[in-house]
Amino acid sequence: MDEFVNPQLKSIIGEAIATKLPEYASSFLQNDEAQLINIQKIDELDWYIGVYKKRSSTLSALQDLKFKFFGLFILYAILVALLLHQALQHLVLRRLHSLVYAVSSFGQGKLDTKFPEENKDEIGTLNGSFKDMTIEIRKLIDGLNQRISEKEIAEKAANRLSKAVAFSGTGVVITDENFVIEYVNPKMLEMTGYPESHFTRAPLLNIVASDMAILVEDIDIDLRSRNYWRGDTLIESKGKQPIWVSLSVSPIREEGGNITSYVASAQDISFVKESQRKMEQLAYFDTLTGLANRTFFRMQLRKSLALAERGHYAFSLFYFDLDEFKRINDTLGHDAGDQLLIQVANRLKKRLRSEDTIARLGGDEFAVLLSGIESQEHATDVANTIQQTLSMPIMLGNNEVIISASIGITMAPYDSLEEDQLLKHADLAMYEAKEKGRNTFHFYSQELNAAANERLFIENELRIALKEDQFVVYYQPQIDSRTQQVVGYEALLRWFHPTEGLIPPDKFIPIAEATGLIVELGEWVLQESCNFVVRLTEQNRENNVSINLSARQFKDSNLVPTLSKMIITSGVSAERLHLELTESMLMGNVEAAITQLHQLKALGISISIDDFGTGYSSLSYLKRFPVDILKIDRSFVQDIPEDSNDMEITAAIIAMAQKLNLDVVAEGVETIEQVEFLQNNNCFIVQGYYYSRPIPESDLPDLYTKLGEVPFKKVM
Ligand code: C2E
Ligand code: CA
Ligand code: CA
Repeated sequence: MDEFVNPQLKSIIGEAIATKLPEYASSFLQNDEAQLINIQKIDELDWYIGVYKKRSSTLSALQDLKFKFFGLFILYAILVALLLHQALQHLVLRRLHSLVYAVSSFGQGKLDTKFPEENKDEIGTLNGSFKDMTIEIRKLIDGLNQRISEKEIAEKAANRLSKAVAFSGTGVVITDENFVIEYVNPKMLEMTGYPESHFTRAPLLNIVASDMAILVEDIDIDLRSRNYWRGDTLIESKGKQPIWVSLSVSPIREEGGNITSYVASAQDISFVKESQRKMEQLAYFDTLTGLANRTFFRMQLRKSLALAERGHYAFSLFYFDLDEFKRINDTLGHDAGDQLLIQVANRLKKRLRSEDTIARLGGDEFAVLLSGIESQEHATDVANTIQQTLSMPIMLGNNEVIISASIGITMAPYDSLEEDQLLKHADLAMYEAKEKGRNTFHFYSQELNAAANERLFIENELRIALKEDQFVVYYQPQIDSRTQQVVGYEALLRWFHPTEGLIPPDKFIPIAEATGLIVELGEWVLQESCNFVVRLTEQNRENNVSINLSARQFKDSNLVPTLSKMIITSGVSAERLHLELTESMLMGNVEAAITQLHQLKALGISISIDDFGTGYSSLSYLKRFPVDILKIDRSFVQDIPEDSNDMEITAAIIAMAQKLNLDVVAEGVETIEQVEFLQNNNCFIVQGYYYSRPIPESDLPDLYTKLGEVPFKKVM
């Protein structure tokens, strides 16, 4: 059997028995074919049962199963792979894809790319990180963009600003911190006419015109102390008049506050200045002559006084009017008068310095402010110059006229430092000059002031005197030297002031005249005189009364009606009334004077020319006026018999008066020689201290006694 038993099987069985394994499986080869053997022990029998079978047939089912299983496995694997793919697709790839898509789209510049919502796994974290990153990037880009656009805006604004400066209608100059010019805009070049090179690296204040030298210092000080200046000034321009600009210089500061540069802007205000000048011209200058007017003059005076007050400055003030201007105006007409004023103004402008102020204060009144004049000698020179220039003949149309001026001079600060007082002083001095005669000048003095104060006192007292009856009329007889009889009286006003005593008419008449009080006062004298004549008539004394008329009274249109009424109410016979006028009162408006005289004569009144010979009229001129009597002035009579010249004039006046059929009265007769001389020359009516001073009515009886009281006889 042994030969039949397969050795391999034999060992297997041996092994299986040896091991005593409950189950034992192994394989062996039989006929080159693998045999599978399984040996089991049945313990109850203590048997070993082995079964063997060809491996190939035993395992064919397993092989089948193996194939089936493998197929299944493959299928499963595919399924799993598919599932995995699906899951991967769903869980990873798609998300990765959309992340990649988002990142690449963001990368391509689509900044608004939306990142997918994600879970909190790695991809989600990655996604989140990407998302955060894009947010950061986006912020960064936004910031950058904003900065860029801000920069653009700023650039644009700067550009606009620089264009605005370049095209500005205002001249602009920019300097460094040391006021050295670095930039000038085109307007500035256009305004000044200079090329840019003129300004480059030049000091800023070079632009200010040299006329403004004083101001430059001020600006400089201001700029250095306050870094700022604003005001009107003239700036230099090429070949043209300097231009008025409103200039403002301001600093440009860095953030820290340091000044890096200055900007000066100059607004052309020449047109404003021009209209201002025109307005000033109207407000401050006389349209006829172009001289300063009263307002401007006073402004200048104030300025000069302010200067003088500070010391080291003196000036003199001239006041004058033209002698006889009124006559020229009246005879040649107002146009000629205007021409005259213009020519006078031109002559003054030519002869005086530009720093002097020449003003026309009104009418023919002029004033001159001479700066820097300290001595009377210097002022005298100027007064002489003015008088010389004015004394040259002036052509007015076809007429040549010669004029002169009476100049009043006051010196500041010596005479006064007060505006009104200085003007008053100059005025006083001028009146004094006039008193002295034409073509003179006079300096103000303390005495003049005293006289002025007295004038003021009298003016005030006159008003009171009229109310309080402080006046009395005195009468000076006019006597026929042949018969020693009184033929008439001259009414002469007397003022008895309660404290000042007798104030002579020469003192108060001119003031009454100047203030207009003379009209009322004169009317009172007329009334008194009429009453006096009536009383004389009542005593059978048929004497005339000569009443002095002032210029103002004579011109008064109420004179004739007033007199006419007075004559009627007082009952005086008009032929007893003589009115004494002076020659000068008939000059000026000759026609009006003639009319007035005719009206007076029509009332029955006689007209007498007082102070004859002192005026400028000739006898032939007098022929035009309806006058009756000439009174030879006292000045001719008083030097008889010493002055042969005066005697000749007196004789000539008497002779010519007789030719003209005028009566002659000699006044101021003080001596018998004078009486005799006059008698020898056929002048018999005399008035003077030789016979009687002016006396109050109450003294008349004494006069009559003195004269021997012979019955009167009417001569005139
Ligand atoms: P008049 O009209 O020339 O008056 C004559 C002046 O000579 C008077 O001065 C008179 O007193 C003075 N007189 C007369 N005889 C002599 C003489 O022999 N020797 C001297 N040395 N003087 C003599 P009176 O009264 O002082 O008057 C001065 C002037 O005042 C007058 O000058 C006249 O112009 C004016 N006046 C006087 N009364 C009136 C008046 O009622 N109305 C007006 N408007 N003027 C008056
Ligand atoms: Ca008189
Ligand atoms: Ca007289």
